[in-house]
Amino acid sequence: MEKEFVVIGLGRFGGSIVRELNALDMDVMAIDTSEARVNEYADIATHAVIADTTDETVLKSLGIRNFDHVIVAIGENIQASILTTLILKDLGVKKVTAKAQNDYHAKVLSKIGADIVVHPERDMGRRIAHNVASASVLDYLELSDEHSIVEIQAGAQLRNNTILELDIRANYGLNIIAIKRGKEITVSPDPNEMILDGDILIMIGHDKDINRFEKKIVNE
Ligand code: ATP
Repeated sequence: MEKEFVVIGLGRFGGSIVRELNALDMDVMAIDTSEARVNEYADIATHAVIADTTDETVLKSLGIRNFDHVIVAIGENIQASILTTLILKDLGVKKVTAKAQNDYHAKVLSKIGADIVVHPERDMGRRIAHNVASASVLDYLELSDEHSIVEIQAGAQLRNNTILELDIRANYGLNIIAIKRGKEITVSPDPNEMILDGDILIMIGHDKDINRFEKKIVNE
């Protein structure tokens, strides 16, 4: 069966989720207290509803429990975001993703049962910082507070060595999970694989080890 989504809060973040789900041919109900915002999404969402989601009876009357996944994209009004998330979990919605405005907001959302907490501004900021700090870091994906995946352009000091010779696991505690070479991707590369000019290494590890490795390749 097709998955059904609800997006609450049609700012830039919530709005872009609605647009993307629509482009993926998914059913999505869009909710906002603002009539103007709801009108903007009337032709994009499957249903667009003007409603205040801090009112439990409103959520019940929309049959919110029957949806697979509800995304709370209310940002600035932290109280409304927390109350909405609490009611959704109280009503038994299985999966709730909520957007956090700051670290305390994120903690509260996790404590009251949000299944996924996203912090888009902070995460994108971190990603860009890593990207601009080193020309070799092409992408950066946070897995938890301490672990990430990075995409690193193999610099001169890495090229023409095998993975075994570089021994990045012993020296930095990082694992190379894949090598991108042109359009080809080798997942779990053999330790005897030679790193070549233009290779992109996809590595996983602890942030402090990644930072140490990034510093080394920037300084050399
Ligand atoms: P973004 O950073 O995504 O652009 P924004 O700053 O434009 O967000 P926010 O304050 O984060 O706006 O809120 C997003 C939307 O959530 C707004 O359109 C607002 O009307 C809506 N909203 C706020 N409170 C509620 C509520 N209680 N019920 C439903 N929608 C709400």
